[in-house]
Amino acid sequence: MKYISMKKKIQIAIESVLKAGELCQQVQAEMVSSDAIQKSDRSPVTIADYGSQALVCKAIADAFPNDSVVAEENSQSLKQNTHLLERVTNYVSRYLSEDTQQKDNISDRDVCDWIDRGSGEIGDCFWTLDPIDGTKGFLRQDQYAIALAWIVDGQVQLGVLGCPNLPHQLDDANSERGCLFVAVRGEGTSIYTLKGKLITAVCVSDKASRLAESFESMHGDSTTHIKIAKKLGLHKPPIQIDSQAKYGIVARGDASLYIRLPNPSYPDYRECIWDHAAGQIVVEEAGGKVTDANGKPLNYLSGRRMQDNRGVVATNGSLHNEVLSVLSAM
Ligand code: AMP
Ligand code: MG
Repeated sequence: MKYISMKKKIQIAIESVLKAGELCQQVQAEMVSSDAIQKSDRSPVTIADYGSQALVCKAIADAFPNDSVVAEENSQSLKQNTHLLERVTNYVSRYLSEDTQQKDNISDRDVCDWIDRGSGEIGDCFWTLDPIDGTKGFLRQDQYAIALAWIVDGQVQLGVLGCPNLPHQLDDANSERGCLFVAVRGEGTSIYTLKGKLITAVCVSDKASRLAESFESMHGDSTTHIKIAKKLGLHKPPIQIDSQAKYGIVARGDASLYIRLPNPSYPDYRECIWDHAAGQIVVEEAGGKVTDANGKPLNYLSGRRMQDNRGVVATNGSLHNEVLSVLSAM
């Protein structure tokens, strides 16, 4: 029974992230400036963030009515902007599965209810969802991810990471784009196309290669990241890329570490659980290791933000202890 239920969780997670990715790609192609607003913390949110969250939360609610989902967005600001809400409802209607009877008559209210299914509690088991991780990259027409993870007793069991713009070959400008990383605890990490076709199982690389860090300079401490990389003998320029795509590129061996130290302007910044859960298992199941900057395991049970952790370090595994000792000596 447990096995059947995990199989269904994997299937629903993959299908819903792929569907959300289609919606996001369409919005990214058609977007107008009024499709994005600022949240109270001044971070951006777009109709695609809301649409993606509505689709994934609806799929989970239909398949697993009792499952809790802890997601980044809620419908509060959206309800106060009828134009924006109408746009979201239109996109969600377009991307609901063909077999959904409701497709033609879904209301703004339905959409807000699905989005708010993401205001669940952290507990013994729950999903965590970032409907668009890297919204700033999304707005730049660049990299972003849809990140969904299933957590049981504080341990990530399943991670599905959709990276619609990520090239299959990072350094090839003509490479096909769009990767879906799927990691299941004990079963490894694989990459699929955006049509859900298996490309390959992935494995970290033991060869020391490059550092990955956020594209957004305020989301980390690039000066220190680069100093650490140099001490480890990684002299190539870092791969600066938005979203949890960074975990994906460590998992498939394009980078040997991803470091995310708090920006000196925000020394007390605490990371959000949905920004790391899917990425963590993608790296671990590919043979890598993930901890915070002090070597502590990421704690997904302390709240929506990881209050007990500072920064994040993801490596190919073999580099991990060296990174932590360089960090502790700084
Ligand atoms: P990335 O694209 O890797 O920079 O990650 C995007 C995520 O960074 C967003 O989902 C935000 O939750 C998070 N974020 C926002 N502000 C900060 C900050 N000052 N430091 C670290 N992460 C941040
Ligand atoms: Mg995010």
